[in-house]
Amino acid sequence: MFQLSETHEMLRKTCRDLADKELAPKAAHHDEKHLFPGEQVSKLRDLGLMGVAVSPEDGGSGLDNLAYAIAMEEISRGCASTGVVMSVNNSLYCDPVMRFANAEQKKIWLEPFASGQKLGCFALSEPGNGSDAGAARCIAEQDGDEWILNGTKAWITNGYEADAAIVFATTDRSMKHKGISAFLVPMPTPGLSLGKKEDKLGIRASSTCNLIFEDCRIPAENMLGEPGMGFKIAMGTLDGGRIGIAGQALGIAQAAFEAAVGYAKEREAFGKPISGLQAIQFKLADMATRIESARLLTWKAACLKDSGARYTKEAAMAKLVASEASTYVAHQAIQVFGGNGYVTEYPVERYYRDARITEIYEGTSEIQRVVIASQVLKSMS
Ligand SMILES: Cc1cc2nc3c(=O)[nH]c(=O)nc-3n(C[C@H](O)[C@H](O)[C@H](O)COP(=O)(O)OP(=O)(O)OC[C@H]3O[C@@H](n4cnc5c(N)ncnc54)[C@H](O)[C@@H]3O)c2cc1C
Repeated sequence: MFQLSETHEMLRKTCRDLADKELAPKAAHHDEKHLFPGEQVSKLRDLGLMGVAVSPEDGGSGLDNLAYAIAMEEISRGCASTGVVMSVNNSLYCDPVMRFANAEQKKIWLEPFASGQKLGCFALSEPGNGSDAGAARCIAEQDGDEWILNGTKAWITNGYEADAAIVFATTDRSMKHKGISAFLVPMPTPGLSLGKKEDKLGIRASSTCNLIFEDCRIPAENMLGEPGMGFKIAMGTLDGGRIGIAGQALGIAQAAFEAAVGYAKEREAFGKPISGLQAIQFKLADMATRIESARLLTWKAACLKDSGARYTKEAAMAKLVASEASTYVAHQAIQVFGGNGYVTEYPVERYYRDARITEIYEGTSEIQRVVIASQVLKSMS
């Protein structure tokens, strides 16, 4: 069904080579030391991977969303932390700026980010609400030609390294989620401080922290879109972001699968390689099948986005299936490795830890099911 074009095949190979040569060899070290993969991210920048689907006039590579999904998989196969840094800049930062910024804003807030000179982040979640993003407590009040932000945003990926954030804050509480607006906030800026770096289970080389706003003043022209459009911008952005996270989940699963196959062929038990045991073969068969199913759903969602059709349901399905495939495959890979799967000398314990987040961020698996069910019920009413 999917015959990749020459461009997509070339991109896949380029990203795979980069992952094998530059990302995978350093991934364990960055994970162990909680080190941001700065050098690796600059290599992504050199290949145009920080703004894959942004047009060249706006600093990007002008490729499509299928290319983005493929690149996300291959980069995350080498290092899932590098994958999330890339995905946040591409789909959570550049994509909404590309869709909602005016021409003047794009020069400042898109070009340097899509070209990878600068790094963006996306601040929607709060300490008191994640899935229920419409309940945002962070507020923005207008004072002449400025907005004053107050409140705390939680779990912000790239928080320590970012040069700008898209921040969602309530400008009219009486309107509930329709009173949320989006703002382009430079980082650092007076009135914005960073919380401690979270000590995470996985993707430990990427930073995650709170953004704390205390009378943080930003110019009125930094609003993204119209007042009250924030929730719509956020939800649309997450639809696209889910394709990226599905790609990340696939990359982790593929890495775990390749490790398991390699190990099963080498490791002997009862006088023969364990790959000869049907118990192991069935695991490999299930792992391969889940990865392939998830990849097809992910590519379908990306192609739908490229065609301009609605893709909310397909993106949620892709993210749900790919993230659950990822945790399943990494779990089974540890089983294939036996005791060796449980120690840091081998990479599969890291894949297992990295895979877990893909079921949580950009909408938990429960929220994906809520989205899919509502779309299915709507389409059949
Ligand atoms: C490492 C990491 C990086 C992150 N990066 C970012 C980022 O860059 N920007 C950002 O804005 N956020 C980010 N997040 C936040 C992330 O998106 C949220 O953690 C996630 O959306 C879940 O929200 P929550 O943690 O508040 O859980 P809650 O919403 O409190 O959910 C708790 C449990 O209840 C379930 N639940 C909640 N509502 C429903 C429902 N209606 N139906 C069924 N079940 C439900 C959830 O599925 C979950 O199992 C990140 C989180 C982590 C851990």
